[in-house]
Amino acid sequence: MTIRAGIVGATGAVGQRLVQLLAPHPEFEIAAVTASEDSAGTPYRKAAKWRIDAPIPTDVGEMTVRETSPDAVPDDVAIVFSSLPSAVGERVEPQFCEAGYIVSSNSSNARRDPDVPLTVPEVNADHLGLLEVQRDERGWDGGLVKNPNCSTITFVPPLAALDDEFGLERVTVATLQAVSGAGYSGVTSMEILDNAIPHIGGEERKMETESRKLLGEFDGAEVHWHDAQVEASCNRIPTLDGHLENVWADTDEAVSIDGAATAMGEYPAVDLHSSPDQLIHVFEEPDRPQPRLDRTRENGMAITAGGPRETDTGLQFNCLAHNTLRGAAGASVLNGELLLERGYL
Ligand code: NAP
Repeated sequence: MTIRAGIVGATGAVGQRLVQLLAPHPEFEIAAVTASEDSAGTPYRKAAKWRIDAPIPTDVGEMTVRETSPDAVPDDVAIVFSSLPSAVGERVEPQFCEAGYIVSSNSSNARRDPDVPLTVPEVNADHLGLLEVQRDERGWDGGLVKNPNCSTITFVPPLAALDDEFGLERVTVATLQAVSGAGYSGVTSMEILDNAIPHIGGEERKMETESRKLLGEFDGAEVHWHDAQVEASCNRIPTLDGHLENVWADTDEAVSIDGAATAMGEYPAVDLHSSPDQLIHVFEEPDRPQPRLDRTRENGMAITAGGPRETDTGLQFNCLAHNTLRGAAGASVLNGELLLERGYL
């Protein structure tokens, strides 16, 4: 039996990826798609300006887009995947949780709330236990689970691998982020072609804080954030998909290139439908990973890393992930699979 699922914000860059991933999914069944008032009442095929290089799944294309409200979603829907702008998510997601739905969300609102699990299944599946705290505190029958920002998800698994083996003290990261990360109306061609923009509003702070929450320890009542200092600088470049990041990690113990490659390459994957067989693919070639060549590894769910170089204080390396798959829609679907495995659905 499949679990009935809704997608809120289904017409956007992440929403379309959610449709693409959930339509053939063996555990979930798309029962409702919602978007803004402008799209509500129209067939999905018309409302979504489909930009994925695969056809719109026929059944979903014929669905009528609903308003984004718990009243507009059938009661037998158990999980709602959210890809709403954060200001809308902040208002609407609690309404869904209160109405009894489990929400697996991409939006940046509430990610740092102490009682909201911010989860990457391979890194901190145990943080899902915060749902019990959340339900006690908020009195919700449903629950809110977040995946991190796309740029955060790219560097956290390699950092988790280094932290386990060598201990992390301080991290500095510079990003080269694809235009799809800004959403469909985010960056115009006149702004980005032949250009790079050295500012993405709020992105640095998301990377600096979400990474520490993800790498933190859950003691059954709260998450103690990792005490490493993290500093980020974020840049938009004219690639379509795939965020590339240059990372400097200062470690407690000396780290060798071989030791780092082993720690990353052997970092465990999980046994969920959408998880890659190997979470982090490590290149020996110094000029990899590259967005165009490496973003779709393992259906866009693997992280790629390369160019490791010993520094006086630790390691410098590069890493890459597909921002709308591993970094957004795939991340929420993976959290949905984890929720199902842990008995929350
Ligand atoms: P997007 O392309 O702009 O899509 C936004 C979606 O929300 C559309 O379906 C839109 O519907 C709907 N929406 C807008 N205003 C609404 C309202 N007032 N009420 C109900 N629905 C409304 O944005 P996106 O890139 O998919 O991002 C969605 C969320 O995911 C954001 O919070 C973003 O920060 C986060 N995220 C994005 C990425 C990425 O790589 N793009 C990665 C990680 C996280 P209409 O089509 O009807 O306007």
